[in-house]
Amino acid sequence: MSTSPFPPLREVIDEFGLNARKSLGQHFLLDLNITRKIARLSEINASDVVIEIGPGPGGLTRALLEPGAQVIAIERDTRCIEALGPLAAAYPGKLILLDEDALRTDEPVLLQQLDIAHPIKVTSNLPYNISTELLIKWLKASPRWWSGLTLMFQKEVAERILAPHGNKTYGRLSVITQAIANPRKGFDLPARAFTPPPKVDSTVLQILPKDNLDFEIASLERVTASAFSQRRKMLRASLKPLFGDETEPTLTKARLDPTLRAEQVSVDGFICLANLLAR
Ligand code: SAH
Repeated sequence: MSTSPFPPLREVIDEFGLNARKSLGQHFLLDLNITRKIARLSEINASDVVIEIGPGPGGLTRALLEPGAQVIAIERDTRCIEALGPLAAAYPGKLILLDEDALRTDEPVLLQQLDIAHPIKVTSNLPYNISTELLIKWLKASPRWWSGLTLMFQKEVAERILAPHGNKTYGRLSVITQAIANPRKGFDLPARAFTPPPKVDSTVLQILPKDNLDFEIASLERVTASAFSQRRKMLRASLKPLFGDETEPTLTKARLDPTLRAEQVSVDGFICLANLLAR
């Protein structure tokens, strides 16, 4: 294992006074073996451009720069931007630091400004409080500017993303993610892998896009919102606000039993309903 030419991350934290802020979901990864494992999962190589949200003290950033990738790091905490200065200086032109809120970043505009061709990767140890909001934003991106998302989630959120139908954690997030992409589990990390440790364990997911989507995402969102807003109700009742008198005929067309509940309907079943709604 190669050693890092940079000071240990603990020293960076001390030098720049990066005491973790809860409001920013700061749980740092200080073990470079772990951050390298995340970089390997996203198959980073020298030709890659990677967006990293929330680099913090830069453990994962180092692991992304090591194989030669260009990294666009978006960080809201100016203390961290400052702490990453030496890393940026050591990799001229390879590390772009942006001091902004990732929820507001317009990635296609950003990539155009930087003259970077799509698609690129996203690899991040995300702040938990905005992880699903960012995921949904990226899944819905049109045109799609990413070729792979390697993201750290709270374990329970990762389970919801991966859940198959019939599972009690299967919900809107599972359907939307699995309709647009193929999410798979990378590995789990215990809370103690982070400094400071969060209250929950974490899971890294690798999410690869599906090609040629044959439905409108907006319709899929409407159908899943309606079906899952009343999880315990049968489809013929929960979809009524959306399809009205056409609810039962629509379910027949979709070859779905009207007495099913939302969590029993496959992703393809929901896509079929979305297409019937869009008509
Ligand atoms: N990647 C680092 C830090 C992860 S903690 C590591 O693994 O050690 C999450 C990071 O996201 C923090 O540095 C926090 O400041 C940053 N962050 C939180 N909200 C953000 C937002 N809205 N936009 C950009 N960065 C954010």
